[in-house]
Order: sequence, then structure tokens, then C-alpha cells
Amino acid sequence: MPDTGVLPERVNAGDVETYDAIVIGAGISGMYMLYRLRELGMKTKVFEAGTGVGGTWYWNRYPGARFDSESWTYGYSFSKDLMQEWDWKEHFSPQPDTLEYLNLVADKFDLRQDIQFQTTISAAHWDQAANQWTVTTDKGQKAKSRFLFTAIGILSAYTLPKIPGRDSFKGPAYHPARWPHTPVDFTGKRVGIIGTGATAIQAIPEIAKQAKQLTVFQRRPNWAAPLHNAKISKQEMEDIKSRYEEIYAHCATTPGWFIHQADQRKTLEVPPAEREAFWEKLYGEPGFGIWMGNFRDILTSEEANAAITAYIAKKIRQRVNDPKVADKLIPKDHGFGTRRVPLESGYFETYNRDNVTLVDTLVDEPIECITPNGIKTAKQEHEFDILIYATGFDGVTGAFDRMDIRGKDGLELKNAWAETPRTYLGMLAEGFPNMLMVLGPHTARGNIPQAISHSVEFQAGMLKHMLDNNLTHVETRPEQVDEWTATVIKAGEALLSSKVDSWQNGVNRNVEGRTVRRVLGYNGNAGHFRRVTDEVAKGGYKEFSFQ
Ligand code: NAP
Repeated sequence: MPDTGVLPERVNAGDVETYDAIVIGAGISGMYMLYRLRELGMKTKVFEAGTGVGGTWYWNRYPGARFDSESWTYGYSFSKDLMQEWDWKEHFSPQPDTLEYLNLVADKFDLRQDIQFQTTISAAHWDQAANQWTVTTDKGQKAKSRFLFTAIGILSAYTLPKIPGRDSFKGPAYHPARWPHTPVDFTGKRVGIIGTGATAIQAIPEIAKQAKQLTVFQRRPNWAAPLHNAKISKQEMEDIKSRYEEIYAHCATTPGWFIHQADQRKTLEVPPAEREAFWEKLYGEPGFGIWMGNFRDILTSEEANAAITAYIAKKIRQRVNDPKVADKLIPKDHGFGTRRVPLESGYFETYNRDNVTLVDTLVDEPIECITPNGIKTAKQEHEFDILIYATGFDGVTGAFDRMDIRGKDGLELKNAWAETPRTYLGMLAEGFPNMLMVLGPHTARGNIPQAISHSVEFQAGMLKHMLDNNLTHVETRPEQVDEWTATVIKAGEALLSSKVDSWQNGVNRNVEGRTVRRVLGYNGNAGHFRRVTDEVAKGGYKEFSFQ
């Protein structure tokens, strides 16, 4: 995919431009925020680290990268014109098509003129006296604004494994989130990949088709279920276009903004044969139905979860020829659905290929170090031409931690959130006036663009309220932060996922201090979140404190 980015403007480090609003990031969040801020007549600047728009879909160009959500629920819904103009080609869009879509959006709404590319924000400091933010870029450039919007994504701070000798490998080594813009040719190559999360589960089958030899280093296996992707015919797309309103209205009634709605029966109340037939149906259907459209208690009841877990384990055993390999691919430390379920296209069958080897690094062959030639385990040195570190992200708060963000009285965000983020609705952090977070911690997520749209529209509504009432300063009220933090923590307690380490609850052993679970999202019903935010908006935002 050719890089469509624009070169950064020439700005002298000494110039300090002042804007009404600065947005950090030109992904799905930042692009839509810019669109709304412009509508409000605000002079806005977006700073973006990449050379083009797209965020996640700009950076993650690895083979096999595609949606796990139905494409036709993933686009922006603010412009009917855009919805009619764009044709999704596959039910689960591959990364190049999605990036093309986001570039179309940038062109159609002329967004690039307010985006400065190839610029990373390294610091953002609140100036109480001036009632404004000062941001500093990696080039030493400074800019000021009354409002600061963080549109930095929940999975943008990628992490490399902490393994001795990591930088000594003499061949190319890639993290999927910094994949080269020209496709990597694996033909005739010996490839080693570390990690078996959603990213690796998409990449492994594609790389295996090309590479001479692919060795997968798995620490903890993940549960995964079939994606069942398919092309969208012209006729199907016409039908989707005619039903967009209905589709988005339906998503707004589900717990996660997806098309999937849990079955209201409890697992063990359903006779075993009927249960099995239901699971067979879900396993054969596209998308997240097996996770989100399942019996309503599979993610909260140990017994129900054990039953679906046994079913999925059986499917893995059916699909993998070598029982020993199948056994290694079956997680033993967590039940199905208690970590984000990767959707796969032939992942398990990939281990039936002669050119693919699975190395269990937890029990059989712990990794000792990276060497110039490959990976040395407790048993042997594996030699490679190419290494891939599909080792994930410092989720949700990681991208905040990588900036020096200081609020009132010099309060450092990193310190303020050391134990738990403290926000109201995940939109505004306590102690950080006029800093609005799109998809901040403690907000509702699920189908990401729909969650983003909701956040952006709420924040644009609040800004309009401020502009209409001559208000220039907004911050949280302590009692609202206490209440929201308690709500968020309580909403996650009943979920089995709260007892399992993952990026979703902030555990990443490649990052200093990230070994303790934290609640990083509002895991209640998105419908409830919408109702709460709608009521706040209708009531004139009085839960916030304005000046
Ligand atoms: P991930 O799920 O966190 O997986 C990282 C993998 O790397 C895990 O298998 C982990 O093992 C392993 N790992 C990390 N450090 C290691 C080390 N030092 N030694 C050995 N193994 C190590 O990350 P991800 O696969 O990038 O996925 C993150 C999230 O991105 C997903 O959950 C999903 O939300 C999103 N995503 C979405 C899509 C999509 O929508 N289509 C696609 C890809 C990703 P342990 O489990 O043992 O730590």
C-alpha cells in the first residue's frame, strides 16, 4: 500500500502557534474529532506520528491483518453520503481496504490540511494561569490550545519482549505494529515468531503459506474461534446500504455495539444435545457470535464457562492432527472468552503443515536469549532469517504513559493513575482540566468505531454547550469521579475475565511495573453507558465543573 502521507509543515521550533483545540492522533478517533471541532468553528490542529491517517490501520500492516468485527458495522455513521459512497469488499475487511477507506474519509472531508504528520507529542502541560495546554513535539516545537483531545488509541503503545540479546539478531526483526510499508517477502525464509495473541493468530497462517519454515514460540495459548470471512457481492452491498440505519440502530441495542446479542438462556438449563447444537451453529457462523451471542452466563459462571471451554477444546482437537500439538494449543490457565477472543482463518490447521513447528516456551523450551542467528531456548538454538515479535501492547494507559502529561499543580498523569485511572465517564481525568479523552480508560468500548463516535459526539456536545454559554474551563467533580470509578470497578467484578491477566486489565510483563491487574474499561453494558451519558448531556452537563 503506497504511503499517502503528506510531509510535515515547516515549523521553526521557536514558533508557538495557538489553537482552540489540539488533537493528538489522526486515527479513527482523531479524524472524527477534527471533523466535529471544525463544525463548531474551532481552530484545530491534529498532530500525528505517522505519515498518513488511519492509526491502528496505518501501523498494523502485517499479513492477515483484518477486522474481527463486521465491516458494515465498523465505518463512520455520521455521513449518509459517505456510507453510500463506500463499498466494503469483504465481511471482515483486510487492513489495506480499511486504510483506503480512512484515506477516502480524509479526502472527502478535507481533513489533511489541519493534520501535521510525522510529529509525536512528547509532553502536554496545563498552564492554570493561562487556562490552556502547551504541547511539545519530538522536534522541540511547541503549540498552545485551550482544549486538548487525546485520540491516541487503546492499543498503540506496542511492546517488545524483554529477552536478553533482543537487539543482537542480525536479520530483520519486526513488530506487527511497525510493519514495513512494502510487504515482507517470506519466500524461502526461516521465520521465527514470538507470541500467540490475536495479531499472531491472524499472521501465522499467512506467513506459513510463504515461508520455508515457520517456528511459533508460544508462552500461553489463547482460545480462538473461526472468523468465516467472505467477499461481499455487489448485490449484498446494495442491500447493506439500504439497511444501514436499521443495522446501526440494532448495534445500539446490544451490549458491545456489535450485531451480536447474548442468548437469554443459562447454559446448564439447556439440555446437553441442544446446547451442543447451538454451539455448532455459532462455531459455524461468522464473527463474534460464539463469544457475544452465546448463553448469557458463559462469561460470569464458572460452570457455564467450563462447558463452553470443553466444547472449544474439542474443536481444536478435531482440527489439529497431532494430539500433542493440539494439547499444547489448548489453554489451561483461563476459560474461553475470558481474554479477548481472536478470530482465525485456518489457524489451527496451520499446525498440520510440514513447514510449521510449535515451541511451547512455558514448559518444554523456555527462551533463554536472542542470538545473532535466532532464538536460543533451554534445549537448542533455532536459526532464522526473519524474526517477528508479536508481543502485544501496553494497553489503554500505555500511550498516555509515553507522554509527559501534567495537569493542575504539575500533577503527573502517570503518578495520578499509578493504581487506577480516575476519570468521569472515561472522558475527563481528575486533575486534568480541558483534556478530553476519546476512548479513555473507564469508558465503554466494544465495537471500537461506534464507541469512538459516541465519545466524540458527547464531547462535541459538551463543547457546544461551553461555547454557547461562554465557558472556557471544564473539569471533573470529585464525587462524580469517585462514583464513576466505583461503578466501573463493580461492573467488572462479576466477569471471569477480571481474574485473568491480559492487556485489557493492564498486565504486560514487558513493561516495568505492569504486573498488577487494574480495571481499564467500563465492562458494563454499552446501552447503560449510552443512557448515562445521554442523561448527562440532556441535563446540561452539570456533573462536570465549568468556569
Ligand atoms: P496480545 O494478545 O497481548 O498477545 C501478545 C502475545 O505475545 C501473547 O501470546 C504473549 O504471551 C506473548 N508474549 C509477550 N511477551 C512475551 C515474551 N517476553 N516472551 C514470550 N511471549 C511473549 O497482543 P496482540 O496479539 O497484538 O493483540 C492485542 C489486541 O489487539 C487483541 O486482544 C485485540 O484486541 C487487538 N487486535 C485486534 C485485531 C482485530 O480486530 N482484527 C487483530 C489483532 C489484534 P502471554 O499471553 O504468555 O503473555
